[in-house]
Amino acid sequence: MKGFAMLGIGKAGWIEKEDPVAGPFDAICRPLALSPCTSDIHTVFEGALGERTDMILGHEAVGEVVEIGSEVKDFKPGDRVVVPAITPDWRSLEAQAGFAQHSGGMLAGWKYSNFKDGSMAELFHVNDADMNLALLPEGMSLESAVMLTDMVTTGFHGAENANIQFGDTVVVVGIGPVGLMAVAGAKLRGAGRIFAVGSRPLCVEAAKFYGATDIINYRDGDIVEQISELMGGKGVDAVIIAGGNPEVVAQAVKMTKPGGHISNVNYHGQGETLPIPRVEWGSGMAHKNIQGGLTPGGRLRMEKLVSLVEHNRLDPSKLVTHVFNGLQYAEKALLLMKDKPKDLIKPVVLVE
Ligand code: NDP
Ligand code: ZN
Repeated sequence: MKGFAMLGIGKAGWIEKEDPVAGPFDAICRPLALSPCTSDIHTVFEGALGERTDMILGHEAVGEVVEIGSEVKDFKPGDRVVVPAITPDWRSLEAQAGFAQHSGGMLAGWKYSNFKDGSMAELFHVNDADMNLALLPEGMSLESAVMLTDMVTTGFHGAENANIQFGDTVVVVGIGPVGLMAVAGAKLRGAGRIFAVGSRPLCVEAAKFYGATDIINYRDGDIVEQISELMGGKGVDAVIIAGGNPEVVAQAVKMTKPGGHISNVNYHGQGETLPIPRVEWGSGMAHKNIQGGLTPGGRLRMEKLVSLVEHNRLDPSKLVTHVFNGLQYAEKALLLMKDKPKDLIKPVVLVE
């Protein structure tokens, strides 16, 4: 089969590989809709995970089941399914402990385009299909569904780890597709004031649509000062980091009040350390919680997100600015994600 792959650090291209094989609990799918991720850019062009050779990219997919293993009970060939970016090993101690994302080792629940071939191919493999697939409901658009697999679940995880309470003031740093879903998640969890930090006008408009009450442009000056002025010098309850360089971690610590939460979902692709400012962290005693998380995956997570779209609580299709028809456009879509033109939030490749 043909797939679009990371050939090595800094290089991506089309390769031929053997078709994947399903074990007893697995499924083989063909993609119906795909989307490249900013994480693919960190992985390929920054070498953030280290060297990977001829590893097919793509971890955001809606697919059609073409084959199932002998023990798969809930899915059959022909089913249209939402395939989460994170497909944990549910028979693992890490999953029992509540951190399935790290089943088998740190970040190892993230298999596609990390430890195994991803979905930008004619066929792709799904481990533990009964626990990792969710049915695509009749009538749900492929564009909306493919946004659930990573953008929605990740942005919402940012909001979950920010521990948002009714009426909280929340800053979302970065309003690409992940940050936009963090804004939407913060609103759904009951935030009062939501500051959204970004600069591209299209993203700013989308941030307002999803629930931002204030827009901060980081190009206009230090965001800590801009937000502090609007807050009358008070700290905020929570900061969700969904973009920017390592310095945003320091900015988040400065902006957060004692006892508040700093929730990072940004993939910091470079550097040895991330900065924590000593004084603003109360010399280590400020009770400012710093949490960083890989998004949850699996079937239940996807089913719950599907429910939010089905019942009109969330419309993730607003994230999709570019739609292509044909697997061959995976390459173009990935490069768009690298270049981030002003009119882009997220591209989707439909494969029929
Ligand atoms: P984008 O590149 O589309 O968005 C990044 C945002 O950050 C933009 O709004 C950009 O502003 C803003 N930004 C850039 N520099 C700064 C700065 N110095 N200060 C403040 N804001 C800044 O990324 P995505 O939304 O696609 O992804 C966000 C991150 O989430 C990525 O690192 C990605 O790899 C990661 N990720 C993590 C996952 C997880 O499980 N934790 C899963 C999926 C993705 P502008 O408007 O100027 O472009
Ligand atoms: Zn991703």
